[in-house]
Amino acid sequence: MIKDFPTDIGLIYEGERIRKQNMFVELGGPKSTGAELLEVAPKDQVEDEKINIVGQDILDMDEGTISPLGIYIKVAGPQLEEDLEGVFERRIHDFCNYVKGFMHLNSRDIIWLRVDKEAKKAGLSLKHVGQAVAMLFKTEFDVIKKIEITFYTEEKETKKFLEQAKEVYRKRDLRIRDLSEEDVDVFYGCILCQGFAPEHVCTITPDRTSSCGSISWFEGRAAVKVDPKGPLVEVPKGELIDPDRFEYAGVNEMSKERSQGAVERVLLHSIFDYPHTSCGCFEAIAFYIPEVDGIGVVHRDFKGTTPFGIPFSTMAGQSGGGQQLSGFSGVAKEYLRSPKFFIGDGGWNRTVWIPKELKDEFYDDIPADVRDKVATEEDATDLDGLKDFLKEKDHPVVKNWKEEVAVEEKPAMEAAEIQMSATGMPVAGGGVTIIFKNAKIYAEKVIIKREK
Ligand code: SF4
Repeated sequence: MIKDFPTDIGLIYEGERIRKQNMFVELGGPKSTGAELLEVAPKDQVEDEKINIVGQDILDMDEGTISPLGIYIKVAGPQLEEDLEGVFERRIHDFCNYVKGFMHLNSRDIIWLRVDKEAKKAGLSLKHVGQAVAMLFKTEFDVIKKIEITFYTEEKETKKFLEQAKEVYRKRDLRIRDLSEEDVDVFYGCILCQGFAPEHVCTITPDRTSSCGSISWFEGRAAVKVDPKGPLVEVPKGELIDPDRFEYAGVNEMSKERSQGAVERVLLHSIFDYPHTSCGCFEAIAFYIPEVDGIGVVHRDFKGTTPFGIPFSTMAGQSGGGQQLSGFSGVAKEYLRSPKFFIGDGGWNRTVWIPKELKDEFYDDIPADVRDKVATEEDATDLDGLKDFLKEKDHPVVKNWKEEVAVEEKPAMEAAEIQMSATGMPVAGGGVTIIFKNAKIYAEKVIIKREK
């Protein structure tokens, strides 16, 4: 324990939320800049347990203000390797949350932190948080022999640090791109987010990096090696049950066990039926748009609204918390680069809307024949606008609409048979035929026809 620590440190504070009314200050988050980075460094470049603050400490800040925050951690130890950086970096989230009165959300360059009024009254400073985090890292991981932490709150320095961090994230993401699920026998499972999302289990494969974007397959492998009893486990792939949507027996087994039975099946590359669960730390969320039979993706930094008229935060609130919800799936932005990006549902040929910022970032990763057919907020701000845009560009999903119309025009008897097999409900009669389409989830469309 740390002598004279002003609040308390412990696992019990992990799920603590600090609401706006109890908040003293906010750091990083959607209204400011934030980033965290952990790197392995040579031992002579790490001053053990030194905490540096570049800018104001919490106690000097004015109540209710929002400041930028950078957290830079250097660790040293003879057994440490670069592959461990992402995994250790993800633990900053836990260890900050162990400090009573200090809340940490998300990861990488989307971190969002709050300090509550009680903690400020008690005298909690960034220095104290740094001491706690350093102590927790060294206690949890024997392999870390030295640790130095720097907090940036000065705007210009934080922005400089953010660029440094982004360059490292980019290099880490690049490493995994040559490997695919077919090249490996095992995946990795992670339950680090269960403090906030009790039924959430991440499956990390070379083609589907963690939802938070912080832990790649390589990093999962390194983590299991140094911390075999930790939150990451090796997952033998097992039988490939569904080769179109990528359902593996081993992933199902691990998900069931680690979600305490809540999640029995997972389709790794589909948004429908049994999609990957969504915690709350995901960098982006993919969502089904039934009106155009397409998929949209919105990322955390997007400030506008999706074609549904709701922003990222509302959608994340409705679908996160560890839920497995057909039609929604939390993903890392990097997943947009995956050759298996929702391949079970049609991939980019089914993707109809993403924010402009995402499109610019991933433009070269979107197949050339469809990239200009995917709308952004500049092309469509609502469902009618989206429909018009897709029609005008002849997006591949438009062909599906035509097929639907063809089905609708089949003779009434045949149509009744179609709906019977889809819903099992007799709804023809009284001179009209009612056709329920996709009624397994909801009624996408109801057509009432007069019988001849
Ligand atoms: S999002 Fe997934 S991989 Fe990332 S910390 Fe949470 S459970 Fe682990």
